[in-house]
Amino acid sequence: MTDGVKLSGRCMCGAVRFTGTAKEPKVAVCHCIMCRRWSSGPYFEVVFTEATFEGEDNISTIRSSDWAERSFCSKCGSNLYYRMLDSDELQVAAGLLDDQSGLRLTRQFFIDRQPPYYTLADETENMTSSEIYAAFAAQTAQQKEPPTGK
Ligand SMILES: [Zn+2]
Ligand SMILES: [Zn+2]
Repeated sequence: MTDGVKLSGRCMCGAVRFTGTAKEPKVAVCHCIMCRRWSSGPYFEVVFTEATFEGEDNISTIRSSDWAERSFCSKCGSNLYYRMLDSDELQVAAGLLDDQSGLRLTRQFFIDRQPPYYTLADETENMTSSEIYAAFAAQTAQQKEPPTGK
């Protein structure tokens, strides 16, 4: 797990800076309504396995659902990352990264929620909301073995 790509980035105003390790130089985009409200467009993200932040007191975090939280710069409002509560991985906003030249868009989530006013032409692996919920349910069931009922 020491592999990965070292990347750095910062928010728009520079109050929050970070360096960390991206799992792969790959970008996923999420078209879900929450990401679009949060980002004013689809949310482009890079999965980081670890990151060190400077200016941590400027990071605000909101619990956006029962399973995830979203963090942003409290000075300039730049979105920083999305994190599943049971995971250490950060889904960092791709637009924050200083060097985006090695990144490639490879996946699209909630493709069925994409509004009609744009289409991304890149060759990607796409998942619909029902595929995502099914994968999520399977993963949760696996992690929580043996099932405790409920
Ligand atoms: Zn900022
Ligand atoms: Zn989303």
